[in-house]
Amino acid sequence: MQSRNIKGVISSRPTSDGAGVSINRLTGFGSRLNMDPFLMLDEIRSDIEDEYKAGFPPHPHRGFETITYMLAGGFSHRDSMGNEGSINTGGAQWMTAGSGVIHSEMPLPGDDPMMHGFQFWLNLPAKEKMQSPAYRDIQGREVVEFWQNDAQVRLVAGDLAGHSGVVTGKTTRALLADVRLPPGGAADLVYARDLTSQFYVYEGSAKIGDSLVQRGELARLGEGDGLRLSAKETSGLLLFGGLPLNEPVAHHGPFVMNTAAEIDQAIHDFQQGTLVRNPGKSL
Ligand code: FE
Repeated sequence: MQSRNIKGVISSRPTSDGAGVSINRLTGFGSRLNMDPFLMLDEIRSDIEDEYKAGFPPHPHRGFETITYMLAGGFSHRDSMGNEGSINTGGAQWMTAGSGVIHSEMPLPGDDPMMHGFQFWLNLPAKEKMQSPAYRDIQGREVVEFWQNDAQVRLVAGDLAGHSGVVTGKTTRALLADVRLPPGGAADLVYARDLTSQFYVYEGSAKIGDSLVQRGELARLGEGDGLRLSAKETSGLLLFGGLPLNEPVAHHGPFVMNTAAEIDQAIHDFQQGTLVRNPGKSL
């Protein structure tokens, strides 16, 4: 295996979104961070209910996919297609906004108020941005779990170390894995050479060669056919990647298109109440 090395490390930044929910964010919009085909990664991590309980009331999206993955606590989802679903610790939600969806995402704390989860924004190719929206839950028990060397791996999407995740990527080929290492642990994780990739450390720290990546940091990875990871302490990271689209990105709030005119159209459609072409149920 030819391990990928680290091309750059970027720290997540605290901000808020939805109805005032505190998050840590890594965004490729208007920054030097290029995660193509991924656009953004948000982390919620709090055991104070007031910091997240207002959630993300009904709001629109167009032109990309959202993937939610929970380490602790859950989320309920309702959308303009009429879908209602909820996930808990270890589960994921995959929504293809396509031509337009309005949805709400509300936290579901368990007995323990700790809420720790992530939302990825995964871009769609230009020719598929206006496809019909879609949604699915992936419950924790459905996520593919395996051991690779010392690593405990939970594979949500794509192919890794000879295993296939639940979702193989509806329109954009993507890899998403939760990798945990014990103190002194190491693992070789093989995955396709044609994917661009990065990982985000959510617990402890991860080592690639001599480089240490700390909690709250994202490491952009270079070329190779896998990743040789090690850890000095109990560590957890999310490894994600995809086939880059190499297309222009026009972004405004919850809309991601290719041109400013398409963004104006999305704003217009939302204001006119025509963003959702197949209303299903109103929220
Ligand atoms: Fe949303």
